[in-house]
Amino acid sequence: NYVEGVPKESDMYISDTATIKLKVPHEEEASPSVLVKNLYLSCDPVMRIRMRKPGDETSSYFTPFAPGSPIVGYGVSKVVDSKHPEFKAGDLVWGITKWEEYILIKNTQSFFKINHTDVPLSYYTGILGMPGMTAYAGFYEVCNPKKGEYVYVSSAFGAVGQLVGQFAKLMGCYVVGSAGSQEKVDILKNKFGFDEAFNYKEEADLTAALKRYFPQGIDIYFENVGGKMLDAVLLNMRLHGRIAVCGMISQYNFEQHQGVTNLMHLVYKRVRMEGFFVPDFYHLYPKFLDLVVPFIKQGNITYVEDIVEGLENGPASLVRLFSGRNAGKAVVVVARE
Ligand code: NDP
Repeated sequence: NYVEGVPKESDMYISDTATIKLKVPHEEEASPSVLVKNLYLSCDPVMRIRMRKPGDETSSYFTPFAPGSPIVGYGVSKVVDSKHPEFKAGDLVWGITKWEEYILIKNTQSFFKINHTDVPLSYYTGILGMPGMTAYAGFYEVCNPKKGEYVYVSSAFGAVGQLVGQFAKLMGCYVVGSAGSQEKVDILKNKFGFDEAFNYKEEADLTAALKRYFPQGIDIYFENVGGKMLDAVLLNMRLHGRIAVCGMISQYNFEQHQGVTNLMHLVYKRVRMEGFFVPDFYHLYPKFLDLVVPFIKQGNITYVEDIVEGLENGPASLVRLFSGRNAGKAVVVVARE
């Protein structure tokens, strides 16, 4: 069935299918298909949007999952057999796959071959995959950041947020992040180098909290949360500030959006608020790798993952995103090689 409200583990089920064939089937041999073994799967907030009933405003942007079919999402996979000229058995790839052990991919357009294998392979679900590209595109391409600016990141310990904060620090910005526990707040400051961080769940008045951390106002807001958080940010923006709208996770379990009443402040402060969608930026992936891989290797950037073992633990991992019980990028290990 389609999901209503907060997703639960029982909204998903595990099923055993028949024998696994380790070859591209005969009938597919003429098409450029690739049979892959999934190694790491990514849990992403957008999966909740795709669990909605078709027909609401989101369906034309995110195709709803068909009940009873495997979850579709990003993963890291190994090519087992290939009829595609650009992929051969043994290649490692990341891109859009399904929550299955093996899968025949007929459309390889979303696949990127993995060339740097001297970093953890799971990173291609996070810092070196879709969330990493999201942080990169949103921060560098949408926010137009400058050294010394005041940057605020919500859901700052998430797959995207932890990287945005570190990019902003490397650029010489003053960076504050928010997250939903004291433990996350400590890591934001002590491991990722945020100048300040706070637990938004402990703040009765978000507008006052932001005023405390940004007495001069916010130049750049990297929006992951929406709702009341966005409303409080609007009151704290500086003249000519920028808001990169990456996502609004606080709204994904509601039918109607809630909590934003201060949009006139876009006018008062001449703020540019711009939504973006990461697939529009994948042509920048090689440039992104040139920047981020050296940062990882030299220790300028760190990344925290929340890893669970076994496809059977995938639903629990996915559900945790919506209560903030994930600490870092949520990854499901299906197989390590
Ligand atoms: P995260 O790893 O940040 O996981 C979600 C986190 O959101 C949770 O850990 C929790 O952290 C926080 N959260 C959950 N529910 C709420 C709530 N009701 N109010 C406030 N915070 C909440 O996810 P990602 O980093 O993968 O994604 C971050 C955002 O980026 C999402 O909105 C996602 O949809 C969006 N996105 C957009 C893309 C694009 O192309 N535009 C691509 C990829 C992601 P805590 O409460 O502890 O802070």
